[in-house]
Amino acid sequence: MSLPLLPDRQCGGCVECCRVIPLSLPELSKPTGQLCAYCVDGAGCSVHAIRPQTCRTWFCLWRVIELSDDWRPDRSGVVVRPDGIEDGVITLFVVRRSEFLASEELFAVVAGWLAEGVEVALSVPGPVGTYPARAVVSDWLRPAVEAGDPDDFTRRVLLSLDKLEQHDWQPDGIEPRYAVTG
Ligand code: SF4
Ligand code: SF4
Repeated sequence: MSLPLLPDRQCGGCVECCRVIPLSLPELSKPTGQLCAYCVDGAGCSVHAIRPQTCRTWFCLWRVIELSDDWRPDRSGVVVRPDGIEDGVITLFVVRRSEFLASEELFAVVAGWLAEGVEVALSVPGPVGTYPARAVVSDWLRPAVEAGDPDDFTRRVLLSLDKLEQHDWQPDGIEPRYAVTG
């Protein structure tokens, strides 16, 4: 899936998708959660000009929809995943717990989505090489939103994450293979 990107937004120092997104391609296979070996800390992709097509077209929704800079995944710990958006579901993939989870910003944006009829899912990564856990939590979050209660909202988010982290993790079966050549 390729979504139109916001013109003035760049990934900057964020490389979260080069870690969290699994790849199983002829030229590049890396398990879920393993930072791609072509990713150089502070510099980004070392094979940028010849990177696989998937890397050219996969972007988190922070690159697509108007969300503040606080949402940048390496700052917020939340990768807003694009898969599911066509079915009206937005997935907040919480790769690291941060103060952002208790922010007014998160509460206000999720409240807006729910008010528009968008479904919201939470997801957490498992150990490297396993599929993440994910659950739609719209109905669970809605009472806190309707009560205008950000503290209860945060409590519900954290309880959901605790529950997801008890998931029975399933291996993704991907063996690392790095063979991108120009
Ligand atoms: S090839 Fe480059 S863009 Fe693709 S996952 Fe690796 S570092 Fe990221
Ligand atoms: S997670 Fe989003 S902001 Fe971060 S590198 Fe990937 S596309 Fe860019």
